[in-house]
Amino acid sequence: MSKRRLFVTTALPYANGSFHIGHIMEYIQADIWVRFQRMRGHEVHFVGADDAHGAPIMLKAEAEQITPEQLVARVAAERPQYLDGFHISFDNWHSTHSPENTELSQDIYRKLQANGLITRKTIEQFFDPVKGMFLPDRYIKGECPRCGAKDQYGDSCEVCGAVYAPTELNRPYSTLSGAAPVMRQSEHFFFRLSDPRCVEYLRGWTQDGRLQPEVANKAREWLDGDQGLGDWDISRDAPYFGIPIPDAPGKYFYVWLDAPIGYLASLKNHFDKGQAAAQTSQTYEEFVSDPAVEQYHFIGKDIVYFHTLFWPATLHFSGRKAPDNVFVHGFITVSGEKMSKSRGTGISPLRYLEIGMNPEWLRYYIAAKLNARVEDIDFNPDDFVARVNSDLVGKYVNIASRASNFLSRLFDGELCDVHGLPAWQALGTAQHTDEIAACLEAREFGKAIRLAMEYADRINQHFDAEKPWELAKDPAARERLQQVCSICIAGFQALTVWLKPILPALAARVEAFLGAGPFGWADAGTPPARIGRYEHLLTRIDPKQIDALFDLQDSPAPAASTRHKGGSKSGSKGASADAQDTPAAQQAIGIDDFAKIDLRVARIVAARLVEGSTKLLELTLDCGEPAPRTVFSGIRSAYAPEQLVGRLTVMVANLAPRKMKFGVSEGMVLAASWEDPSRGEGIHLLEPHTGAEPGMRIS
Ligand SMILES: [Zn+2]
Repeated sequence: MSKRRLFVTTALPYANGSFHIGHIMEYIQADIWVRFQRMRGHEVHFVGADDAHGAPIMLKAEAEQITPEQLVARVAAERPQYLDGFHISFDNWHSTHSPENTELSQDIYRKLQANGLITRKTIEQFFDPVKGMFLPDRYIKGECPRCGAKDQYGDSCEVCGAVYAPTELNRPYSTLSGAAPVMRQSEHFFFRLSDPRCVEYLRGWTQDGRLQPEVANKAREWLDGDQGLGDWDISRDAPYFGIPIPDAPGKYFYVWLDAPIGYLASLKNHFDKGQAAAQTSQTYEEFVSDPAVEQYHFIGKDIVYFHTLFWPATLHFSGRKAPDNVFVHGFITVSGEKMSKSRGTGISPLRYLEIGMNPEWLRYYIAAKLNARVEDIDFNPDDFVARVNSDLVGKYVNIASRASNFLSRLFDGELCDVHGLPAWQALGTAQHTDEIAACLEAREFGKAIRLAMEYADRINQHFDAEKPWELAKDPAARERLQQVCSICIAGFQALTVWLKPILPALAARVEAFLGAGPFGWADAGTPPARIGRYEHLLTRIDPKQIDALFDLQDSPAPAASTRHKGGSKSGSKGASADAQDTPAAQQAIGIDDFAKIDLRVARIVAARLVEGSTKLLELTLDCGEPAPRTVFSGIRSAYAPEQLVGRLTVMVANLAPRKMKFGVSEGMVLAASWEDPSRGEGIHLLEPHTGAEPGMRIS
C-alpha cells in the first residue's frame, strides 16, 4: 500500500454564532475519515477556519456596537471547547479574515482576470438611503405583488406562495432601517462562468464519475438547464466587511468568493507555522500544487453549487489544482424535527458536554447513522440510548470485562497464542479488517459499525457457548478456558482498532489496558500477549441525562420576566432567597447589560392552544427574519388564540432556544403583571404604538 498524501477540510462555519449540532455532525464525519487515514499510515493535513466576512457579520457587529473583528474573535474563542470536547482532530484552525486569505484571494482574482474571465456589468439594486448601503435581498420586505400580503420577503410570498424579484414588491422597505429603498446603479464584477472554457471544464469535472451520483445529477441539471451557467457576481460595494478587490476602490469580494479560498489560507498558515514539517519537507506552494496530493472537502448538501461549480473553476482557471472530490452529507434532524440553521435549535452541543455526556456516545451514534449518500439523518433519543447501551457497551466493551476477569484471576493476565485455534480462525478477523477498511474509506460508517457489531456478537456467542464460568471450576479445562478468553481479548483488540477512528479516547484507554499502542490499522491482526488490570472503560447512558439534554419540563417559558423572577412579596421565600432571585430588579445595570437583550417587534401570525397544557399558547411570530419563530408563552389564562392573531408585540429575540415537552421555544414575548397576585392576576401583553414593524429593534 503506497503512502497517500491528503489535504482534507470541512466547510467553513460562518462566524456569526456558535456551532450547532449540524456542524458537529460534519466534523465528526470528517474526523472519523481522517483518523482512519492516519491509522493507515497516510500523510494527512486536516484544516478548518472561520468564515468571517460578509454583510450579516458586519450588521450584527454594528448592532452590538463592536467591530466585526471583535465579533469574529469572540466566536473564534469559543471554537476550541467544541472541537476539543468532541475530539475533532483538526491540524489547524484559521480565519478567512487573515493576511494569507487576502493574498490568496487577490492573487486568484488577478489570475482569473488575466485569463479573461472577469467582466464588469452595471446592475440596478435596492439601496437603503438611511443606512447608506446596497441591500442584499434578505434585508428587503414589502407587500406581495399578487395577494397584497404585508411584510413579505423579496423573493417569495409566505401567504400565497408567489415567487418574484425584490423589485416587484409593492411598498418595499429596508428591514435594517424601515426606509423605502431606492434603485441605484452600481458596477459589479463577475466571474464568467458562462465562458465555454468553464462550461466544458466543469462538465468534465462534475461528470467523470468522481462525485456522488446524486451530486453529479444535480450538477448536470445546472449545466444543462435552460439558462446554462450564469456569470457569478463576485463583488460587493462598501460598506462591506471583506477583502478589497485590487485596483477597484470601494469594491470588495463577495464573501462566497473568499470563503473556500480560506481552505488554502488555513493550509498555508499550517505550513508557515511549521506544523506540517513532521510529515513533509515540502513548502505550502510545493504541497498544494503536487499532483500526488489528494484534496477533499466535506460539505453539506446546501452548498453543493458553490463547491462543484465555482470552487473547481476558480482554482482551475487561476492555474491551480482543483479538488479531487467533495464529500456531501445531508442534514441532521432531531426526533424528526428540522433544525433551524440560523437559530440552531435541537441539541445544544455545548449543553451535551456541560451535563457530562460522553462525546464518544455521540460520535458512535452519528457514525452508525452515516453512509456515503446525501441523506438526512435523525437523532432519535430512544435509538441513541439503545445503540450506545446495548451495542457499544453491551456487546463491545462487555467482551473485555467478561474475559479479563478470568485471565487476571487465573492466568496472571497472560494470553495464549490464538493463531492456530479453529475458533479464532472461524472469526475471520483478517477478512473483517479488510471489509471494514473498505467501508471506512468509502464513508460507509454505518455499515462498518454493523460489521463490527456482528463480529462482537460472534465473540459473545463463543464465550457463552464455552461457559467459562464452568470451565473455571474444572482444573482439567484450564487450557481451554485460557483459549476462550484469549480469543475474546484478541477479538476485542481487533474491534478496538476498527472503532478507533470513531472512539479515539476509548481506544486510548484500551491501549493502556492491553499495554499496547498507539494502534495502527495493522494491529487488528496482532493480539496482545497479556492484559493489564481491567478498569472501567465506558459507562452507559442514564436516561435522566437525555431529559437534561432536552431540558424536558412542563413549565412554560416565562411570559414576563417579572412574573417568574419576582415573588419577593409573596412571602413564600426567605429574605436571602429574595436577594438572590431578584438582583435585576434591585441593582442598577449599565447600558451595556441592557444592550445584551435583543428586543424586537414581532407580529403574531398564528396562535394555538397547546394540547396537554393549561397554561401555554403556541405563538408563531414574524420578527423580521426569513422564517417565523415559534414561542410558547404562559398567557393562555389571559387570551384566546384568535384575539392575538395579527397583533404586534415585543419579543426577546436572543434568548437561547428552549426545548420543552411540546416543542422548541425560540424566544419569549413580554407581558406585564403584578408581582403580588392579590393585586390582580391579569397578564397584559406588550404592544407597540401604531407604525412599528416586525423586526424593529427596541432600545
Ligand atoms: Zn402573496
